[in-house]
Amino acid sequence: MASREAHDCTSVVKAGSLTVGGASVGVIAGPCSVEDEEQIVASARAVKAAGATALRGGAFKPRTSPYSFQGLKEEGLKMLATARDETGLAVVTEVIAPEDVDLVGEYADVLQIGARNMQNYRLLEACGRSHRAVLLKRGPSATLDEMLLAAEYILDGGNSQVMLCERGVRTFESHTRFTLPLATVPYLHEKTHLPVVVDPSHGTGHTSLVTDMAKASVAAGADGLIIEVHPCPEKAKSDGYQSMTFDQFDAMMKACRRVAEAV
Ligand code: PEP
Ligand code: MN
Repeated sequence: MASREAHDCTSVVKAGSLTVGGASVGVIAGPCSVEDEEQIVASARAVKAAGATALRGGAFKPRTSPYSFQGLKEEGLKMLATARDETGLAVVTEVIAPEDVDLVGEYADVLQIGARNMQNYRLLEACGRSHRAVLLKRGPSATLDEMLLAAEYILDGGNSQVMLCERGVRTFESHTRFTLPLATVPYLHEKTHLPVVVDPSHGTGHTSLVTDMAKASVAAGADGLIIEVHPCPEKAKSDGYQSMTFDQFDAMMKACRRVAEAV
């Protein structure tokens, strides 16, 4: 069902204010984690002013260490809904367990399936039964064909609103947190009609590298971007080292617009 055959063009996924797969690049931006209401509402206002079309923020956080901040869970989902009410931005947030899909879907416009869960088949099936759009992130060691088969679980469950996300893979290279392969974008456009989003924040793991990789993603034909932005990155409870300030994000958006006009 994900195959390009029988589809002339990229499918359009729409969820509230977010359109991915249309003429312009959909931009999902916000903090890695929802930390408090002031933080998420301020982030929503700032990213909207800069031109983002959806808000991101994790309430259920899949952390490498059990001792790291695990997210505010339902309390965080409520804060995301408040930020949507204040700004009109669609909410994109991660769901990490099949039994949470209905709860997260009550608050979110888009269910994010994180890299660590790309092959959690019960979670994929539960998202397939949901009426919410899904952002499926590539597993750090998954091939693109494995990602397409993971998407197939969601599509086969009856949910056609699926976006694929390249967020970098694990390689021998340690200068960046992951290695971000941008050939993924044209490759997936050849293979599938599903729209393709790139995450240069996780893909690089360094704020200073995000703008150039976002520009390169747009030049490669990405349908969307997902970017980590925090009011005060050095105080962030997760992923501050790869998060942009509001001003940096605004400058990145302007740079990406110039690339989009040129290609
Ligand atoms: C995130 O988006 O904050 C996240 C945890 O991403 P990934 O699943 O790609 O690591
Ligand atoms: Mn993160």
